[in-house]
Amino acid sequence: MTTPRQRVTRLAPTPSGALHIGNARTFLATWALARHEGWKIVLRIEDLDLGRVKPGAREACLADLRWLGLDWDGRGSDGEPLVQSADLAPYRAALESLAARGLTFRCDASRSEIRNAASAPHAEDGETRYPPALRPPEPQRRTIDDRSGDWLANHRLRVDPAAETVSDELLGTHTFDPGLEAGDLVVWTKLGVPAYQLAVVIDDARQGVTDVVRGDDLLASAARQQIIARHLGLSHARWWHLPLVYGADGKRLAKRHGSHSLAALRESGVEVERVIGWCAWSLGFLPERAPLSARELVALAAAKSMREKARAARSNPTVFTDADLDWLQGA
Ligand code: GLU
Repeated sequence: MTTPRQRVTRLAPTPSGALHIGNARTFLATWALARHEGWKIVLRIEDLDLGRVKPGAREACLADLRWLGLDWDGRGSDGEPLVQSADLAPYRAALESLAARGLTFRCDASRSEIRNAASAPHAEDGETRYPPALRPPEPQRRTIDDRSGDWLANHRLRVDPAAETVSDELLGTHTFDPGLEAGDLVVWTKLGVPAYQLAVVIDDARQGVTDVVRGDDLLASAARQQIIARHLGLSHARWWHLPLVYGADGKRLAKRHGSHSLAALRESGVEVERVIGWCAWSLGFLPERAPLSARELVALAAAKSMREKARAARSNPTVFTDADLDWLQGA
């Protein structure tokens, strides 16, 4: 008899500023689902996006997660996180392996393209397809050479047009064509760090992640990550893409909606049970807004209900309104 493999999910915040109520909903749902289902939870600090990472933001982000009542597993009782910037060796090895097989090429792209490649591509960021005409003809040098400054250059993975299907636990089956949509993908940037898409594949694999739960603006990225994983002989996780929270302006809730940052809410005296209750209600787990503890959320967050609720919330997107803010503040 084989024992079923321990399921593992991850919390992967980018310490780029204050977490907001939309981030809180995704993290709470991920955590509660995992705790309900008995999955292990690992923490990863995604701090390779050097342009966006702010000093002190890591501590602020951990303080927010702890305030929400989230915990995680790992080495030591505290569950030491994997900090991406602490060791680039695994990413370098991956680039070398891709390059050795002629799958990548060095390229010079504009600064803004590089900046975009270092972040997870969220909804309204927009992107420019890498024009196939710029792709160098074979053969290329297949080693990454320090003396030629290769580690401080951009490298792209050749991605030919082809359908790539993503099977999502919450959203069903979606087919993308990354070669047409994005073209050759940046996997390494001239800032000397891997691009988000490469780093996330390496880290999900080395942290043993079996279930990725995150916002649905990264659904298209799942297709890209599947391609990269395949080239590296890695299997990809099951995907669970959760619907996002929008601001009253109809845009994905973001740091620009400053008054909804968790830190601002906490400092203005908002009780965490109201934040959790609002997140549970807006995902359809409660019939009306009511304070809820993290433990009570876990009791509700079975995978089956998460599937039903997330589907319903996707067809009826959540908008965070002034009335919601008033309710959080105890009105
Ligand atoms: N750190 C990424 C972000 O904040 C998460 C990416 C992921 O979950 O794959 O967008």
